[in-house]
Amino acid sequence: MTIPIPEKVGTQKKTGPVCFKCKSRLDSRTHRSWFVKAFLFWLPIRKFKCYKCNRTQYAFINR
Ligand SMILES: [Zn+2]
Repeated sequence: MTIPIPEKVGTQKKTGPVCFKCKSRLDSRTHRSWFVKAFLFWLPIRKFKCYKCNRTQYAFINR
């Protein structure tokens, strides 16, 4: 008997976060904005940019 294992939603793979829209890998080279530096420096989040759909989004980093 084989039980199909559903894909975990929201689990980040070692390859890094992916774009919520086009599912492509995000580039983490985007510099943090002043807002993140000032208020979100204590959170393990980083700013990522998708060059496919030109979206900037924040994602948590698993350490
Ligand atoms: Zn995208």
